[in-house]
Amino acid sequence: MEKNLVDLIKSAGILGAGGAGFPTHIKVNSKAQYVIINGAECEPLLRVDQQLMSSKSKELLQSLKLVMKQTGAEHGYIALKGKYKNAIEILNKNINDYENISLYKLDNFYPAGDEQVIVYEVTKRIVPEGGIPLNVGVIVLNVETALNIYDAYFKEKNVTEKYITVTGEVKNAVTVRVPIGITVKEVIDLAGGPTIDKYVVINGGPMMGKIIEEDKPVTKTTKGLIVLSVDHPLITDLTKDISQMLKESRTSCMHCSLCTEVCPRNLIGHRIEPNKLIRMESYASVNTDSEFPKTAFLCCECRLCQYACVMNLKPWKVNSLLKVNMSKNGIKNNLNNIPNKVHPFREYKKYPVKRLISKLGLYKYDIEAPLTEVKQQFNKVSISLKQHIGVPAEAVVKAGDKVVKGNLIADIPDGKMGCRVHASISGTVIETNKDTIIIEGV
Ligand code: SF4
Ligand code: SF4
Repeated sequence: MEKNLVDLIKSAGILGAGGAGFPTHIKVNSKAQYVIINGAECEPLLRVDQQLMSSKSKELLQSLKLVMKQTGAEHGYIALKGKYKNAIEILNKNINDYENISLYKLDNFYPAGDEQVIVYEVTKRIVPEGGIPLNVGVIVLNVETALNIYDAYFKEKNVTEKYITVTGEVKNAVTVRVPIGITVKEVIDLAGGPTIDKYVVINGGPMMGKIIEEDKPVTKTTKGLIVLSVDHPLITDLTKDISQMLKESRTSCMHCSLCTEVCPRNLIGHRIEPNKLIRMESYASVNTDSEFPKTAFLCCECRLCQYACVMNLKPWKVNSLLKVNMSKNGIKNNLNNIPNKVHPFREYKKYPVKRLISKLGLYKYDIEAPLTEVKQQFNKVSISLKQHIGVPAEAVVKAGDKVVKGNLIADIPDGKMGCRVHASISGTVIETNKDTIIIEGV
């Protein structure tokens, strides 16, 4: 009997491993014209996908073929930066074995990996405002997500591990595969530990990541851990109070529009103009039902506007605040314009990653982080039941139960959107609660 790809993906607990956490079984249970594997890895310093595309090229191509068949897609692309020369060389050696699959080489700009940006780059189709790639017949999958699909289909393997780049102020920047549920501190120790005493950890990339405590567990969406000094400008920025920033914007914003000039969503024709939103929020309340404040919903919070701003203001933070305030007041996004063209100078406005790294003060950390095998055994994991978009998974084990790595420990509640969760080590369940299942190893 032919295997059902959607069921296998659902059963394996696969979600968007690039950070979004959308359940993959829902995404691939659709018809599409194109499938794009997103290998842009546009967040500076992260080194996961570019290495996986080299080390697991055949598996990646095979997975793309499976998803194309499932969705009825006529063409599949692996979209990656032209600078990932090793991955391109290896993929090119194997790609001729696959019909209707090709590589798409992206320039080295930020945010090349934004879903709507990559869809335009590869297909020249513009995702509508507030829309998703499927609205224009495209499905976009992260590299690691695609490899998890391969494992589910050919090895019946559930998602129990995560690839993570550990970099910044650590002894040896590395990329490792670790069990889901170990602590951030344990992952940092795999990179030889921190090189400084007073540090903060960013979970994700430096652009869209958030500060995370060291005792928090790794989840299926953890992609990078960046250790930085407490007084690094990026940390100062991330911890800055919004009211202080609004005060500054009242006095410092020059209305120069540079933030809007670089905004990737504005450049694909969406009506977001961060220079106008920051002016409006600095001077007036926005809890109205007028159309303009709703353009904040079109912001993907890529934070690029901040690095274009000569006054170091944060239009993205204003947009984030606006979204929260409007949602609290029951205002929803109803903007769904379909632009018929992108900004005429879009090509010339792509923001170079090298310039971004320099502006972020991360130049010295822009180094290799080689994929390194982890031999260490971990004795305890704390596995979150809400690693995905949707409702939390419900525990199907209780304290005292013995589990083997890969066993189902929490399932999707009936009729809800969610993702299954599996044991990432073998051992005994020592605690279950509404948020977490803790397992101690044997
Ligand atoms: S770039 Fe900065 S100063 Fe210029 S309009 Fe935008 S927020 Fe204001
Ligand atoms: S964070 Fe700034 S640059 Fe990015 S989409 Fe939002 S407004 Fe545009």
